[in-house]
Amino acid sequence: MIRLLIGNVYIRTLFVAIVLVNVAYAKPVTKTHSDTMGEQRKIMLAVDHVLDANREFVNRHSKHYFLPFIKGQTPKATVLGCADSRVHSHAIDPHPDGDLFFVRNIGNQLVPVRGSIEYGVRHLHTPLLLVLGHTMCGAVRAAMQDYSEMSPAIKTELDNLHVPHGDPDNAALVLDSVEHNVDHQIDEAKSFFADELNQQKLIIIGAVYDFRNDYHQGYGRLVITNINGSNDEGKIKEYLGFSGKKSLKDAFIKK
Ligand SMILES: [Zn+2]
Repeated sequence: MIRLLIGNVYIRTLFVAIVLVNVAYAKPVTKTHSDTMGEQRKIMLAVDHVLDANREFVNRHSKHYFLPFIKGQTPKATVLGCADSRVHSHAIDPHPDGDLFFVRNIGNQLVPVRGSIEYGVRHLHTPLLLVLGHTMCGAVRAAMQDYSEMSPAIKTELDNLHVPHGDPDNAALVLDSVEHNVDHQIDEAKSFFADELNQQKLIIIGAVYDFRNDYHQGYGRLVITNINGSNDEGKIKEYLGFSGKKSLKDAFIKK
């Protein structure tokens, strides 16, 4: 879906071209036999990919691997992340099985998944809520433009992003909008989890997963941009310093 959003302008241009061709020739578009065969092949490849992977997974894992999961789950963090397939859960946890209560949608929006996030924080008692944006997010890029021609379902979700309009091909502007969206989602989360924050049972961290090295801090870096609603570098360092852990002190903080 994200790839579709990224290519939206191109797809819309192509769509207009196809419509014009159709009007010119006054003929309905019909799929050729080879089109249908190509689509069926893509479907079968996708199904095979999933089933083959599961077969290998079953072969690689004994009963002992599953025993802790059968007892229940005690994830370390609730993560609100983008559905983009390039946001790798193993980038923030080498063995994410059972560790992350990962909730995803386009543009990491809180509103449509508030119940799931509440379940992670209030029922599974994760002490960390991580709002995870990422560089060149297709949903953010779509929301930076006029998206009124999108389907009602997608429009409704993009309405939750609240990013300023601008050129979606300008990497610096997109990065600002990605951070802006993370901040906005954290503002929503802060009012929803005000009690947990006041009681210091929860910390909300906003970060951008940088698989393009846009921040020049290394490919795949997690860049921390917000803690409990604050973008202030000093405050973020102060929060992270409380843990006393080297890994957190060395985390890259957006300046
Ligand atoms: Zn995204």
